[in-house]
Amino acid sequence: MIRYLLLLVVFVISLHALSNSEILKRADGLIKSSSQSDQFRAYNDYKSLYLRSIMNDSTKLKINSLKGIVKSGKKLHIDISTYEKELKKLTPKKKYTKPKQIVKKRSDTSKKIRIRSSHKLKSVTWKENNLVLSFDKKLTNNQINYFTLYDNKNKRFKYIFDIHASMLNKSQNLRKDGISRIKLGQYKPNTLRLVIENRSKIKINFKKESKNLVIKIQSNSKKQKTSFTPVNLNQYKTVVIDAGHGGKDPGAVGYKKYREKIVVSKIANELKKILKSRGYKVFMTRDRDKFVKLSRRTKFANKKNAHIFVSIHANAVGKKIANKVHGIETYFLSPSRSERAKKIASKENSADLSDMNLYGKNSFLNLLNHHNILASNKLAIDVQRGMLGALNKKYKGVKDGGVREGPFWVLVGAQMPSVLIEVGFITHPKEAKRLVDNNYRKTMARGMADGIQRYFANCK
Ligand SMILES: [Zn+2]
Repeated sequence: MIRYLLLLVVFVISLHALSNSEILKRADGLIKSSSQSDQFRAYNDYKSLYLRSIMNDSTKLKINSLKGIVKSGKKLHIDISTYEKELKKLTPKKKYTKPKQIVKKRSDTSKKIRIRSSHKLKSVTWKENNLVLSFDKKLTNNQINYFTLYDNKNKRFKYIFDIHASMLNKSQNLRKDGISRIKLGQYKPNTLRLVIENRSKIKINFKKESKNLVIKIQSNSKKQKTSFTPVNLNQYKTVVIDAGHGGKDPGAVGYKKYREKIVVSKIANELKKILKSRGYKVFMTRDRDKFVKLSRRTKFANKKNAHIFVSIHANAVGKKIANKVHGIETYFLSPSRSERAKKIASKENSADLSDMNLYGKNSFLNLLNHHNILASNKLAIDVQRGMLGALNKKYKGVKDGGVREGPFWVLVGAQMPSVLIEVGFITHPKEAKRLVDNNYRKTMARGMADGIQRYFANCK
């Protein structure tokens, strides 16, 4: 709950300029959209309104925001049960009616398919070689679609379960010795997809046991151990750190001609050192002053099966306002259309126009996965909190620019939660001096690492 409140606080801060009715109007518009990213934005708007309703002690606003949270949250498969309970308490006379279930008819009338799945995944556990998926209701046969394929490109056998159900949480990687990769996620709004990948063939059996789906996985690997890997240990988490710009692209050039590409590379290397010392697997998109195309950076992270992708940049403004603008900001990828986000993004995007053409605007929006947006948002909050917490202990006047969303091309295509950190304004005299100071950079990197650690501790 503390986590939720903090999440809300951040949104309230980022929305400070708009009035309650303006936000409500915007959210009510967004919720009608069929795009999931709009749904997510609506959801966030309602959540910030909810916090405002607590602060302003307004029951009317609280009911309106709770209704919105419940409605959009359901569409996004987010667990909104606590909000729903509170809403019911507030509206005892008028019975709150759930959004209608959409029933889609095929032209063949003998087969009617319910689009909205009422089954929910409760838990995922290992029982020796068996992966047990527990649901809230008994499963039927036609709810499970199992198929196998060979992925030629990655040279892997894939065993795929599509299950007509929804999950309460985000996608997850389930590790098991002897198996290359096991991934579970919401493939479509009403379909869960479990993908078991391996370089060599494996034997898969499955059976339904009341509310459980039990999947027996037998790898042929001789190295296979009997013990199972706990998923929350650092050494099984892979972090890809991306120091922005490099080589022919200096990034922003600021106070005393300090260059962004150098500053961010130093911070990235500090972060790498700290994370490694804490047991994480760390990879860098560049470890020296070299030009790397934007699209290659996320491709690299995908190839490494990274759990998170952290891109590090420094901000800049024109000379006229250079003395005034400073602060640390963390962005997560979303199709935000706010002018400010666009401005920052266009600066970070400009180095590599070919990538923009490659993706195009529409496919960019399609690439966004709402589970990743939500996880990226959480990661951004943890990283931002970590940095501010560490720096505030040692330095005065460090400005919290907050967590923001924006259309950053370097984050497009990342298949894992990803954030872009603007470590400060290289054009601000005081902040720039700090950004070239090793102790300041070390403290900041330690804060980032703390944030990453907190993120992993909270996402299980
Ligand atoms: Zn940059």
